[in-house]
Amino acid sequence: MVKVRPLRGCEARIIGYGDRAVISVNSASMTERRRFSIGHELGHWIKHRGTVGNLCKKELITANRTSNSRNLLGREKIANEYASELLMPEYLFARFIRGADISFDVIQSIKEAFGVSLTAAAIRFVNSCDYPVILACYGPNGRRWYHKSKQVPQYFYPVRVISHESPGFCRILSNNEKYEAHEVDSDIWIDALGAEKYEVMEVIWPISRDSFMVFLWWADESQIVDQIEEEEKVDIVEPTFR
Ligand SMILES: [Zn+2]
Repeated sequence: MVKVRPLRGCEARIIGYGDRAVISVNSASMTERRRFSIGHELGHWIKHRGTVGNLCKKELITANRTSNSRNLLGREKIANEYASELLMPEYLFARFIRGADISFDVIQSIKEAFGVSLTAAAIRFVNSCDYPVILACYGPNGRRWYHKSKQVPQYFYPVRVISHESPGFCRILSNNEKYEAHEVDSDIWIDALGAEKYEVMEVIWPISRDSFMVFLWWADESQIVDQIEEEEKVDIVEPTFR
């Protein structure tokens, strides 16, 4: 049974007795978050049944806290992964994104088709797609976390601190156009040697009063190709130093 009610000090909880359980989920949260929280609690029920009860805090129930993140108890990661897979099952998701070009539209359509938050949709996309794409979260103190797809070179990272030169970033501050794609100098976002010579596509959207997400991809992938060639040179040279 699921009860939607005001909760204090936690976002969701599950209390079980025998083969029955009651999930309580915070009525103050948006529908997408409640759906993710219910999936998370079901994950505890399936995977951690018979162990201690669960009071799950908001910051622990998030698609970001899956196997790609450190600093989180194993059981919370497992519950988040369960929720992500429950809401966006692999067989449906793979079919949904097959052949899709990279754009922000695909992430918005994932959000709508699967009833998840934009962040959950974007994380799932980044972890599954066949293109080089990066998703990063920034707060007042700079980068909070990021996910990058397998095709992003090993030594590419989203910058720790933003230069505030991004057109999208200015728009966020003025609270105008959301979800618009812009091509900007790569060194605004990518911490890599020579990044200023290339461009990257960005879409930015706010997630709270002081935090925002950025989704990055390359319309022209020469920065990726050049970097991979550089990394291969390094790999070849390396054994001679041993
Ligand atoms: Zn939990």
